Amino acid sequence: MNITEMLLTNVNSRPKKKIVPKGVVIHWTANERSGANATANRNYFNKPTTVASAHYIVDDKQIIRCLPEDEMGYHVGAQTYSQAALNKLSNYPNNCTIGIEMCVNADGSFAKMYEQTVALTADILKRHGWGVEHLWRHYDITGKNCPAFFVVNTTAQTYTGMPAKDAWTKFQQDVHRFLTAYPQKPQPDVDKCDVELTLTSTGKLIDDVSYVPIRMIAEAVGGAVEWEPSTQKVTVNGQEVSYVNDQGTAFAKTRELAALLGLQVEWDEPRKAVVLKK
Ligand SMILES: [Zn+2]
Repeated sequence: MNITEMLLTNVNSRPKKKIVPKGVVIHWTANERSGANATANRNYFNKPTTVASAHYIVDDKQIIRCLPEDEMGYHVGAQTYSQAALNKLSNYPNNCTIGIEMCVNADGSFAKMYEQTVALTADILKRHGWGVEHLWRHYDITGKNCPAFFVVNTTAQTYTGMPAKDAWTKFQQDVHRFLTAYPQKPQPDVDKCDVELTLTSTGKLIDDVSYVPIRMIAEAVGGAVEWEPSTQKVTVNGQEVSYVNDQGTAFAKTRELAALLGLQVEWDEPRKAVVLKK
């Protein structure tokens, strides 16, 4: 298991409030579209207009850490909470839980994403000295149908081939088995990076120079993008950047934009991804 740390810089999703966690809350992204993977969800959380977050996002290829486990995220807020949550957690469970988002993007493998989530969950439980009784579905806390494949029978059948209750029980058993089967499992490796984008879907090559969409990249690291209609100028954090317009999206040279944002650029050939690091 490999965790990529891409901590959020959006203050609206990451209030930097310290918490003492008491449990883990399992979610799904509820986004079945192709490309709605861990990176895309993380970049969504980091948009300045988003007020939502989770500590981890898991797809079939990656586990992304968006928040340190001892910081509060916004993943389980509601008007009212279940009695069990009020008794065992608090009257505002965001302030004592670690959230995991499971991705169900159509171009990913549910089975591999599930396996990675089991490994991650077991790792968190182990580090906190907890058993599976510290696991919650979002549903158990607020009544929301999340993750739907552990709550709603039709969705559970589609993804797991069994009723929702059984699918949730199996998940808990799988985590428990992982916990007990690998009692000496070491801490996971952590890669640090700030933005990661897959070029095939989000960037373009023009004369062998890579270009990336300005707004997506800048907002993924908390930058402010503005477009001035009268002059047609695009600025990032107040500095002008040259761009090409492709069907209404402004693309800048990856290196030029990275320099503006103070990031290093790396090209990951096997995954066809541009990785930007601080
Ligand atoms: Zn949820």
